Amino acid sequence: MIERDRLAANLERVRRRIAQAAERAGRDPATVKIVAVTKGVPRATVQLAYDLGLRAFGENRVQEALQKFGTDPLPSDTELHLIGYLQTNKVRHVVKLFSMIQSVDRLSLVEELERRAEGQGRRIPVLVQVNLAREPQKHGCDPLEAAEVVRALLEAPHLELRGLITVAPLTSCESEIRRVFAALRTLRDQLEDYFSYSLPELSMGMTNDFEIAVEEGATMVRIGRALFGA
Ligand SMILES: *Cc1c(COP(=O)(O)O)cnc(C)c1O
Repeated sequence: MIERDRLAANLERVRRRIAQAAERAGRDPATVKIVAVTKGVPRATVQLAYDLGLRAFGENRVQEALQKFGTDPLPSDTELHLIGYLQTNKVRHVVKLFSMIQSVDRLSLVEELERRAEGQGRRIPVLVQVNLAREPQKHGCDPLEAAEVVRALLEAPHLELRGLITVAPLTSCESEIRRVFAALRTLRDQLEDYFSYSLPELSMGMTNDFEIAVEEGATMVRIGRALFGA
């Protein structure tokens, strides 16, 4: 388990790198939220991260999140984001546990989420996940299908569409990563125009590429290893 001092130093370094990237792009660093990705991280370490000031956490497996936070919930001033693939048969759990679902990528999922959110009497913030790199092993809808998913979400009264998310391709080629992040922003702008609806959130950037993402307009960076170690 990572020690408090080490985690504090990691967090400070991540914050500084975000601030520098924001400055290069002429952005206010306060417009970039850190979503601390706590998959594989014990509950006690999540508490340490909270004590150090982090307030948004991300999990990519429903089962793990339920085990970690089901009986020992996060403090009420925190957000818990689902950032991983969501099976339709897990939806009833996630509408209770998560503050935002970042992995909406198909019409059948929109339908089931709407049904369960209504059942809970909740209106749940969501992002549409787009597979911009068109990597076959990645989740997310094809960019050409994004408008269809967006339209379904705008017609779902218990779901609140906030923006888009993507995962950069696994490559060390910076220009290719940058092109994918810029393409997500462009797609967001096009969808905003087409639907006359504001999509303020762009969730992009992880440990290996968050500075590029901030330069390209990310409002949420999802960071695991740079905070908690490998
Ligand atoms: C694991 C994960 C992250 C965090 O990755 P790191 O490289 O550890 O920062 C971000 N987003 C998603 C979807 C993930 O599964």
